[in-house]
Amino acid sequence: MVKKLKKAELKRFEKLLIDERQKILRELEYENDQIARTQLEASGDLAAYSNHMADQGTETERRELTSQIISTRRDTLFEIDHALRKITQGTYGFCEQCEKMIPKRRLKFLPQARLCINCSQ
Ligand SMILES: [Zn+2]
Repeated sequence: MVKKLKKAELKRFEKLLIDERQKILRELEYENDQIARTQLEASGDLAAYSNHMADQGTETERRELTSQIISTRRDTLFEIDHALRKITQGTYGFCEQCEKMIPKRRLKFLPQARLCINCSQ
C-alpha cells in the first residue's frame, strides 16, 4: 500500500472541506433568500405587472438559473459530506475506483475528489 496522508495533512484537508462547506451553506442561504424575494415580488400586484410579460419571461429565466445553481451547490455539499465521512473512516485520499492514492495536488484543487485523475476521465 502506498503511504497514507499524514495526520496533519488530513487535518488540513478536513479544514478545507469544512470551510468550503460553510461557504456553500452561506451562498445557499443567500440564494434561497433571493428566490423567496422574487416569489414575493411576483405574488405582489399582478395587475400592475400584467403588461410586462417580457419582464416576467426574464424573471422566470433568472429563477431557473438560480435553482440550477442551488442544485449544483447541493451536489457539491453532498460530495463534501461524503469526503468528511471518508476522513473519519480513514479512507480519505484514496481513489474509490482503483484504490490508489489521489495525488495531493489534485486534492488541494478539489478536496472532495472521489477519484484519481485517470479514473475520473
Ligand atoms: Zn483511480
